[in-house]
Amino acid sequence: MDVALEILDPLVFDKAYAYFVPAKPVPISGNATFAAGAGAAAAQQQSPLSFGSAWPRDNILRQCISLFIITQIGATALYFVFSALSYYFVFDRRLEYHPKFLKNQVRQEIVSSMWAVPFINILTLPFFLAEVRGKSLLYTHIDEYGWPWLIISSILFMIWNDIMIYWIHRLEHHPAVYKYIHKPHHKWIIPTPFAALAFHPLDGYAQSLPYHVFVFICPLQKYLYIFLFIAVQVWTILIHDGDMISGHWLEKYINSPAHHTLHHIYFTVNYGQYFTWCDSYWKSHRPPQPELDPLIDALKVMRQKGLVDEKGNPIPQDKKKTQ
Ligand SMILES: [Zn+2]
Ligand SMILES: [Zn+2]
Repeated sequence: MDVALEILDPLVFDKAYAYFVPAKPVPISGNATFAAGAGAAAAQQQSPLSFGSAWPRDNILRQCISLFIITQIGATALYFVFSALSYYFVFDRRLEYHPKFLKNQVRQEIVSSMWAVPFINILTLPFFLAEVRGKSLLYTHIDEYGWPWLIISSILFMIWNDIMIYWIHRLEHHPAVYKYIHKPHHKWIIPTPFAALAFHPLDGYAQSLPYHVFVFICPLQKYLYIFLFIAVQVWTILIHDGDMISGHWLEKYINSPAHHTLHHIYFTVNYGQYFTWCDSYWKSHRPPQPELDPLIDALKVMRQKGLVDEKGNPIPQDKKKTQ
């Protein structure tokens, strides 16, 4: 996050804070113009990071506000861009005819996500704040730990998150907490990519905790962290695209969208995030099979409505009307 502030402070925030929270002029008797000039000079003298604002760049309140704005815009933009791409280019919209697909579901998923995002961002703020104030183990130059560590730390990041998210998710299915925290995400039996952030805020926060904690217990290069962090957001969207590819050899190892589709249908299987090994090891893995594809039930409904033929081919509706 310090990278985002390094870019956006000179570009936007310095001017914005100078406008909304200007440096207070020091009252000096006599020439008013001189007084204002002297005030600004005094403010500059107080902190070289002021840039005309009473809140210099390292002011904690300013950092909180800036970080909230950045995470809010960043998370919303990522969500809409990648969910829309996945929805229009990957998601099979015939699934919307599935009997368990809710009325106005996409709209409900978007509203639920937009409610959750600001709360998740506020809850996550202390982590980002600690990062920009230099309390984390994020480092800038690869030479500090070397190239081998760059690769090892990426692998550790994936393993740590996979195990932690598996167990956080699995524990969220415990009856004592399920209905309070995780049930809202299981409202979507047949999810679309827009369900990726449609969580109770505490659920979204709990499942993102491992990423944030990692950089306080293990050194990670900061640009790599940004890349991995964004990749995780995109991955979360992709596993909600309902694609039931089965039989691909990678499906043995990767927690594919097909696995997560089965999690939404059967609840107590496939809790994983990236890989299937936690589910296999702790006996909750359900491999995707063609006969479990929710598209089968969606096509049944489409056949009843006369939208597709027995083989699932679309029946042109104009032609049907003229017959
Ligand atoms: Zn889900
Ligand atoms: Zn779940």
